[in-house]
Amino acid sequence: VLRPLLKKVGLVGIHNLGGLDLIRHRHRDQLRIVYYHRFEEPERSLAAEFEAQCSHFQRYYSPISLSEAARCLAGGQPLPPNALVVTIDDGFRDFYRIAYPIARKYGVPCTVYLVSDFLEHKTWLWWSVIQYTLLHTPRTSWSAPDANRPLAVKFQSVAERMDAAGHVSNWLKKWNTAERLSYVKAFPAEMSVELPAHPTPYFEPLTWDEVREMRRNGMEFGPHTQTHPLLPQLATQKELEHEIGGSRLVLEDRLQEQAGHFCYPNGDYDERCRQIVRRLGMTTTVTCKPVLNGVGSDPLELGRIGLEPGVDRLWFERVLAGFRL
Ligand SMILES: [Zn+2]
Repeated sequence: VLRPLLKKVGLVGIHNLGGLDLIRHRHRDQLRIVYYHRFEEPERSLAAEFEAQCSHFQRYYSPISLSEAARCLAGGQPLPPNALVVTIDDGFRDFYRIAYPIARKYGVPCTVYLVSDFLEHKTWLWWSVIQYTLLHTPRTSWSAPDANRPLAVKFQSVAERMDAAGHVSNWLKKWNTAERLSYVKAFPAEMSVELPAHPTPYFEPLTWDEVREMRRNGMEFGPHTQTHPLLPQLATQKELEHEIGGSRLVLEDRLQEQAGHFCYPNGDYDERCRQIVRRLGMTTTVTCKPVLNGVGSDPLELGRIGLEPGVDRLWFERVLAGFRL
């Protein structure tokens, strides 16, 4: 009973007694890369939360673009003190509507990783289909059809429905790509939901015009595969090259410039992926390994810290400073 309490007192102490400054100072030569996904919940904008985080970035860190960070790492030049790179995965449109104006206001250049088939309106992102279905189904429970992989969820409120969607998506990640996609395809009808042909506003992608406008104003964009598969699950070299290299070609065509900053979906990769990003000459590749980077870090295997606008403020300040990473 006492230990968690002491731990809590200890953590508050870190904040109140200048411990955070000390930890930040100890990690000042390192590069922290953070990643986000969304800036709103289905019925609530997270603008205020993100603005508070950007204000903290501006006050205590040196936010730089990923290209600048890559130049420092490659050239062996020192990074600015407390260097910070902000990245956003997937390419949802709430970045443009909510986060981008705030990031600009606080001088935080962001790199957004785009799933090319999503941007091209060829597909919904597969976990969005699960979310949409559970938000709209008249049913209030679901259980797995497979006795070997049991899961049961109940839901009423929007928050419970989003939570349930998270559980179902994680459950589906254990399936192979073909099985998962066929289950996702059948899921809306099974739950008595009609899936619209194109994503509704909460689920829609950035438009290419918005991407180009933001690019002109200092944001960067990198490929994040064509369909967001779990790459190690793909059987053939051809499929891997199509997902990784193909998404890059689409970006380069739409942006008319090099797009060499790649991001592994879910941070999952294997030796074959490493060889492909190397052979394709990617400038950087990011993972979801929660570590800080520094001189000597492999630019094709950079660590990142997972944030969202709604995370606990003290935890947010600690992980950024480099505490217990
Ligand atoms: Zn992603």
